[in-house]
Amino acid sequence: MSRKTVILPKGRRARAGSPWIFSNEIRMDEAAKAIAPGSVVNVRGEDGRAFGTGYFNPKSLIALRLFSEECEVVIDAEFFAARLTRALALRDAVYDKPFYRLFHAEGDGVPGLVIDRFGDTLTVQIGTAGMEKQITAITMALDTVLKPKTVILRADAPSRTLEGLDSYVKTLKGEGHRIAVEENGVRYVADLTEGQKTGWYYDQRDNRAFIAQFAKDKSVLDAFSYTGGFGLLAAKAGATEVVCLDSSAPALAIAEESARTNGVKIQAVKADVFEELARLKTEEESFDIVLADPPPFVKSKKDLEAGARAYRKLARMAADVTAPGGIVMVASCSHNIPPERFAAECAAGLSRTGRRAALIRQSGAGIDHPVHPLLPESAYLKALFYALD
Ligand code: SAH
Repeated sequence: MSRKTVILPKGRRARAGSPWIFSNEIRMDEAAKAIAPGSVVNVRGEDGRAFGTGYFNPKSLIALRLFSEECEVVIDAEFFAARLTRALALRDAVYDKPFYRLFHAEGDGVPGLVIDRFGDTLTVQIGTAGMEKQITAITMALDTVLKPKTVILRADAPSRTLEGLDSYVKTLKGEGHRIAVEENGVRYVADLTEGQKTGWYYDQRDNRAFIAQFAKDKSVLDAFSYTGGFGLLAAKAGATEVVCLDSSAPALAIAEESARTNGVKIQAVKADVFEELARLKTEEESFDIVLADPPPFVKSKKDLEAGARAYRKLARMAADVTAPGGIVMVASCSHNIPPERFAAECAAGLSRTGRRAALIRQSGAGIDHPVHPLLPESAYLKALFYALD
């Protein structure tokens, strides 16, 4: 079957080098509409000029995602193996152990595909119809380049509905879903099939290491702790007291198991963060270090104002329980709130407390989450650290 061609009458975004083309930029005639969702296509201008090779989903708002800026690029196991080799070279330059995000979608030239590596176990997250069609090629490439023992497919991200895909989790190879993650010298436990997203948040690795530098002899509140990524490292770095606060009982049970494995003590508290912060304030309890890493408050553009208010409130409430001379971190994983807006909301929330705050670090995810330069949304993680008087 010969490859179909999708025409961009203007091709403004494609000319600028964007890896995403929206449906309103495409000549959506009967021929285009008849292309099966997820098909690999050539992308050209009306004059025949080449815009690239990508996959097409006429049902999705982001109708085209490009693999390459050349036409006729063959998308097969060899293609993914080459992308894998490139991604590995970047990670291997920095990480001494094979625990990292191996593929970060558009940032690694593989739109819609995320793979996290835990030694010889991999979790593969597929978000689009186009990538769903490539599962066989992807697993062949993984077998050639990495020979993993276990591969778990997480095809359960809510955004899959936008692509007309169903939700499922499947073990493609091997067995076992509870594994050890080695990060910053801690051996964490992660549940790769039942846990959130791919089971572990590698994006906060550098931020966890940053805060650990301050943790010795300090008390730490890890709010929205999930399985204790921040809290456990702080405990290992010599914190005197670590409270992991989350609404998920299974996540907290894993945090406690990880603490035992590492021979450190944490206190797991199952509660709503906003309610618990209010209670702590009333009781006049405080911590030297307060970390707030919530789920996305701005899930879509229409939630921006409500979400922005929630970040402002969280910054204020987290600072309210931060001891004099302490440090507070507020993070956002919402790609729908721009970094300047997030910083402005945090600043407004902190100023409400009447305390002087100094911004000591502003950061995102580590190098295993590369960002496509023309897709600023892919730099979704923002973390701000303030020293308070
Ligand atoms: N900081 C974590 C990741 C946090 S993910 C890490 O370093 O790995 C966000 C977490 O917030 C999830 O574990 C979720 O269960 C929790 N959560 C969401 N809403 C909450 C709420 N209102 N109160 C407490 N926890 C909440």
